[in-house]
Amino acid sequence: MSKNLPTCYSCSKTAITYRRTDGRYFCKDCFSKWVHATVRKSIKQKNMFERNDRIIVGLSGGKDSTVLLDVLNRIEKKYPSELIAVCIDEGIDGYRDDGLPIAEMNAKKLDIEYHLFSFKELFGYTLDEIVQRSRELQKILPSTKKTKKIQHGPCSYCGVFRRKAINLAARKLDGDKVATGHNLSDVSQTIMLNLLRGDSSKLIRGDFQPKKVHELLIPRVKPLQAVAERDVVLYAFYNDITYHTTECPYSVEAMRLDVRNFLIEIEDKYPGSLNCVRNGMEKISQQCGGKITAESTASKPKQLLFCEKCGEPSSSAICIGCQMIDVLFNTDFKINK
Ligand code: SF4
Ligand SMILES: [Zn+2]
Ligand SMILES: [Zn+2]
Repeated sequence: MSKNLPTCYSCSKTAITYRRTDGRYFCKDCFSKWVHATVRKSIKQKNMFERNDRIIVGLSGGKDSTVLLDVLNRIEKKYPSELIAVCIDEGIDGYRDDGLPIAEMNAKKLDIEYHLFSFKELFGYTLDEIVQRSRELQKILPSTKKTKKIQHGPCSYCGVFRRKAINLAARKLDGDKVATGHNLSDVSQTIMLNLLRGDSSKLIRGDFQPKKVHELLIPRVKPLQAVAERDVVLYAFYNDITYHTTECPYSVEAMRLDVRNFLIEIEDKYPGSLNCVRNGMEKISQQCGGKITAESTASKPKQLLFCEKCGEPSSSAICIGCQMIDVLFNTDFKINK
């Protein structure tokens, strides 16, 4: 090890980390301060919170949401806002069960109210049951337009029901905003995934100031959106934060994993690329998002309705979640041999 370790960019202490994206060395304390300042900047830029907000923090026990809870707890101390931690148990055997006690322990450590909701209790099925049924049906049913709705991967089911679950939980707990632990790496991956899937409306929609677009939909915000995954891990390490490190068993099946590995390689070769992906897309959304979405939806305006089955916000008569449950568990498929 070199005897002449560089000093911190903002104080005279010995640095312990180097940020290749901006060429700065940081000591432990200044690195944590930098994370707090970066999150505060995102909150301010996007007007994420009001002074008195009840902020529902989606807590999983993993690094991102645990770091988010810690950072928000420090930042929001100065305001009359309130933090409430909510865990959603999807029902993934051998994975979520281990993360839940860690999530609860972290909330208790910070003296933050903690609540647990589950897919089973809210929708009648665990994610494992949903995935198993989908796989069974995929094996016996021919692939047709009609059976397309059973051909989702685990993460598609998980995403739909988790969004629905956290919104239900936030309403039940009288929340004003839902804050999730999505970091810069997650946000960049989503942009790349939408690009690879050709999903122009999601790509252009952007991530602007939280707005109440439906009376039953609690606005969602991502305060860690400018902090890369590597920095989240470092922050947890330097602040002695314990988190659940096991990967979800379904993650290996997701296209997101390939995109994640690709972006890690790119960021390593060309530091700052993740920031470029996020900032570039935000500019595009700001400059032409409204125009493009208005034009593309002019013939078929997409309005948020109430699902006829569950009463939750929906862009069609029956919400996607209810459609998924119906097709998997309530449909009598006639199998042509
Ligand atoms: S990897 Fe997929 S299935 Fe697992 S928790 Fe994440 S979204 Fe859900
Ligand atoms: Zn320092
Ligand atoms: Zn519904």
